[in-house]
Amino acid sequence: LESWVDGAEAGSDFPVQNLPLGIFSTGGDERRPGVAIGDYILDLAAAAELLDEDWREDLARPVLNAWLSRGPEDHRALRARLSELLSDERYRDDLELHLIGQSEARMHLPCLIGDYTDFYVGIHHATNVGRQFRPDNPLLPNYKYVPIGYHGRASSVRPSGEPVVRPSGQRKPPDADAPEYGPSRRLDYELELGLWIGRGNALGEPIAVSDAGDHIVGYCLLNDWSARDLQAWEYQPLGPFLAKNFLTSVSPWIVSADALAPFRSPMPPRPQGDPAPLPYLDDAADRERGGLRIQTQVTLSTEQMRRSGIEPFVLSRGSADAAMYWSAAQIVAHHSSNGCNLQPGDLIGTGTLSTDSDEGLGSMVEIGRGGNQPIELPSGETRSFLEDGDEICLSAWCEREGAVRIGLGECVGRVVASA
Ligand code: CA
Repeated sequence: LESWVDGAEAGSDFPVQNLPLGIFSTGGDERRPGVAIGDYILDLAAAAELLDEDWREDLARPVLNAWLSRGPEDHRALRARLSELLSDERYRDDLELHLIGQSEARMHLPCLIGDYTDFYVGIHHATNVGRQFRPDNPLLPNYKYVPIGYHGRASSVRPSGEPVVRPSGQRKPPDADAPEYGPSRRLDYELELGLWIGRGNALGEPIAVSDAGDHIVGYCLLNDWSARDLQAWEYQPLGPFLAKNFLTSVSPWIVSADALAPFRSPMPPRPQGDPAPLPYLDDAADRERGGLRIQTQVTLSTEQMRRSGIEPFVLSRGSADAAMYWSAAQIVAHHSSNGCNLQPGDLIGTGTLSTDSDEGLGSMVEIGRGGNQPIELPSGETRSFLEDGDEICLSAWCEREGAVRIGLGECVGRVVASA
């Protein structure tokens, strides 16, 4: 199937096989839902007459929560209808008027995020970071039983492009007697996927792994900006707090689970000797199809590189399925396993996605070995952690023989000096 919209050809992030939803505005206009197609956004409120009457109200709101709370049947029906509208030439004249160039629009968060939780399912990341603290015993004994996570802060989640104001906080170098307060000197990024929750569950009613797919409405890229010096001092005994909650960036498009269906893969087999998941986390179909063959890339550009016209430097390339010890469905099942209720528009981070290779590390603290092996950039500069003016761009796409390539878009943030 091909779209009549310019820029939606093979190779685009947003061909007619993708059709992610998001919230956009232009000029001083109100925020409204749109679907990405090629280099454009189709304004869904303006195209409402061609959509089912029952959908119109939810697709005219400034956030998508009400739409997401509907079940997968409605989401599939909208996707099928948009696919028809954007590929059949008969609709071209009616719809072309309602296409807005993505470069003309400002993207917002797709929903009002009630809760944000960050997991830690990237086993290579957990091992690499653990090794810096505990060389002989990098993974704690619970890791292979429990999908580890913590409750993050929803209020500071922002769409791609929002500046990253360097946070200040308590930091205590290992050789200092007492901490001091000041701008973080070890500011880092974390490459993650975000899961958007559609239909929620009632308090007290866990979601089974086999049903989790009906609750995950889509995916995005997520950057869990992290102040490593604040983190090292504050994390015991209750885990991450101010080192993480000053900002979390997400790519603005919700790429649906249906669009990603052709790129499902088996979960990587657990290494010999690892325990089997407890029964409530185990599901045969999820073992076969729970992996996400999503290719990822992280680039860095410094102020000096931009001034000299030097292309962004590739920090890493990897893939989600090679990084995740627990699947998206296991994450959702575990989160609700005690009866905790997830709600439409909740955001869940996977945790940093590093592969087992040096080319696929998802954070600077791993690439630069905790500051011991600074990264050399083509400008002659070096980096152990992020400096003011540095811009990090996460991107991701899916490719497979026999399927049309789709992309998740970009998640960008540039560091600015502390307030
Ligand atoms: Ca994280």
